[in-house]
Amino acid sequence: MKPAPFEYHAPTTLEAALELKAEHGDDGKPLAGGQSLIPAMNFRVAQPSLLIDLNHVPELRHISKPNGAVHIGSMTLQSTAERDPLVAEHAPLLHEAIPNIAHPQIRNRGTIGGSLAHADPASELPVVALALGARFRAQSKAGERWIEAKDFFAGLFATTLQPDELLVEIAFPTKMARTGYCFTEVARRHGDYAMAGLAAVVTLGADDKVSEARLVYLNVGDGPLDAANAASSLAGEAPNAAAFKEAGRIASQEDMSPYGNIHATPEYQRHLSAVLTERALHTATERAKAAHA
Ligand SMILES: Cc1cc2nc3c(=O)[nH]c(=O)nc-3n(C[C@H](O)[C@H](O)[C@H](O)COP(=O)(O)OP(=O)(O)OC[C@H]3O[C@@H](n4cnc5c(N)ncnc54)[C@H](O)[C@@H]3O)c2cc1C
Repeated sequence: MKPAPFEYHAPTTLEAALELKAEHGDDGKPLAGGQSLIPAMNFRVAQPSLLIDLNHVPELRHISKPNGAVHIGSMTLQSTAERDPLVAEHAPLLHEAIPNIAHPQIRNRGTIGGSLAHADPASELPVVALALGARFRAQSKAGERWIEAKDFFAGLFATTLQPDELLVEIAFPTKMARTGYCFTEVARRHGDYAMAGLAAVVTLGADDKVSEARLVYLNVGDGPLDAANAASSLAGEAPNAAAFKEAGRIASQEDMSPYGNIHATPEYQRHLSAVLTERALHTATERAKAAHA
């Protein structure tokens, strides 16, 4: 199918893009990599009257580490972040997760901000952002504000960005001492959207017991799913296989209510999530011990 008719603007400054957003609100859709928006327009699921192409706004493409966080401009290509040495060294969870997004061709067009603003519950980046407690900088003509990851995602394909706002930058906190990170998922074929997957973050205390854990899952709810009960079951535990198995049980049976899809029934998604939890916790704990040394 072809998209419904639309106007096209390609501003060359952020100021001009924000001007268009202020004028057109939700009718003016930002075009990032187009890897989700263009198929949605071709299927006429999305029918914006105006596309605001952000690809000619250079100030939205950057990666830096000013203080305690890796800051990534929203229009930074997924493939650029995948190969960036700052990301690899200081945001290992993000570095591990990005290669799971689709295929290299798609990561060469798809952007970090586009994936996050799209808020697909099956996507990897919202899970990483929530697990790390990332912060999102939204800007409008009226000014800017920072949004915590837990307040950014607002259900199925929805965020708390306002109609006149653009996502301009995301700050991913840098890795912490005595903390291990792991991203893992299962897809039918490499590059497909995953049937289940999670990000695990484990921090060990001076006594080598878990002082804090975080478990965030993809594709098992309306957005990235924070399995808070499963994670808190680990606090104070010496890392061990039984505790990891129990965390997987709580996450898959109590914290989540997967819908299932054409590739996996809800029961299969629960099963995969439980198994992946054990594996992710094992890996994250080993990495935390290494970070401890
Ligand atoms: C075959 C295929 C397989 C894929 N597999 C995966 C996968 O396994 N995992 C995965 O996560 N993704 C997958 N994707 C999607 C891909 O990662 C997209 O790149 C991503 O979802 C959207 O990023 P984009 O830059 O292309 O954004 P676009 O498609 O251009 O935009 C997506 C949405 O975000 C909005 N938006 C974009 N930028 C901004 C901004 N700065 N401020 C406010 N709103 C903005 C747009 O208006 C639109 O509503 C796949 C895509 C394809 C085609």
